[in-house]
Amino acid sequence: MAKSNMISGIHNWCDRWCERCPFVSRCAVGVADAALSSEAKDMNNEAFWKALSDSFAKAFVMLDEAAKAHGIDINSFSEEELEESRRDWEETSEQADKHPICQLGMDYIKAGREWLESDAVKHKLEGAIREVEMGIRSIADGEREGLEIQECLEVIQWYLHFIYVKSHRALTEIADANDYDFELPPSERSHNGTAKIALISVERSLNAWALLMDMMPGEEDAILSILAMLQRLQRMLQAEFPEAQSFIRPGFDTEGKA
Ligand code: SF4
Repeated sequence: MAKSNMISGIHNWCDRWCERCPFVSRCAVGVADAALSSEAKDMNNEAFWKALSDSFAKAFVMLDEAAKAHGIDINSFSEEELEESRRDWEETSEQADKHPICQLGMDYIKAGREWLESDAVKHKLEGAIREVEMGIRSIADGEREGLEIQECLEVIQWYLHFIYVKSHRALTEIADANDYDFELPPSERSHNGTAKIALISVERSLNAWALLMDMMPGEEDAILSILAMLQRLQRMLQAEFPEAQSFIRPGFDTEGKA
């Protein structure tokens, strides 16, 4: 039988930006996503919900078979057990919410959103158009800058909430980690992997904000305060998860890409 080219578990520690992922053809989630027709990807389209329900039905059958093969009865739990684990999860999650990393992550979302919703970019682009019209700069130069700004905005928007979500998850994972998790080497502990993708997202966002600041000197003060917030978040994550960088992400750290 031909060896599968798929990378097991790659989607657990990625940034979920499938459109830009170099491993989309080797990831079960990426392949499933690409298999949906553009019609099926339309959230308002009946075909989308049909495709979603079909893939869930398939996943459920596979899960059931895998559980049986491993002698696990997924239906064997009591209401009390369920309630207890729900309470545990809520407690851990609430604690993570109150953690300074998450609080700063939330402050970053608010500050970032406020800036993105301001007229700063609109004014900048209007100014660039005026300069082109007045012959102060070339059309090509105006377009290049417009595209660079657009690129920075896409990166910032993609990671704006993702940083909080992954930081929160890393904190709940480490709080829930048991002896078995800590017997694994740091390169395989899931919370390190989650913290690593949070840190990668922070770094990419920092770069995008810094580029924006360079192109929009009039926004320097506002962007600097956002950059300071992100840098603080980066340091806090590094301090809380000092072994994050040693985690080996399947595909991204094993295949010499990305
Ligand atoms: S590994 Fe790539 S293709 Fe798979 S879910 Fe993550 S971003 Fe998408």
